[in-house]
Amino acid sequence: MKFLIADDELLIRKSLVRAFESKGHQCEEAQNGLEALKKINENTYHAILLDVIMPEKNGYEVLLEMKKNIPVFIISAFTGDDTNIGYIQSDPRVKDYISKPFNHILEVVEQVLGKL
Ligand SMILES: [Mg+2]
Repeated sequence: MKFLIADDELLIRKSLVRAFESKGHQCEEAQNGLEALKKINENTYHAILLDVIMPEKNGYEVLLEMKKNIPVFIISAFTGDDTNIGYIQSDPRVKDYISKPFNHILEVVEQVLGKL
């Protein structure tokens, strides 16, 4: 499967790419929300791993602006006072939330996608 990994932290992207590619998946990276939206528009992905706090556009804005119906996995640690959490939770494309650090992310993503 082909994934887009959108996170502004290089080390997080690289560790996710390594984990997913080791299982035979393809990965592309975006280091901010604007780059993520551009890649989403121009490519086809099976799913998107989306950070919330990113420069240019944050994950919430990416969700608002992306028109495609692609499964999204939020990769972030939410705080209780995040005002966008309600919107993110109500978006049917959001399949799961995976908190950093990611110990079982590959298993979660493969399990959810296997059921779609
Ligand atoms: Mg971030």
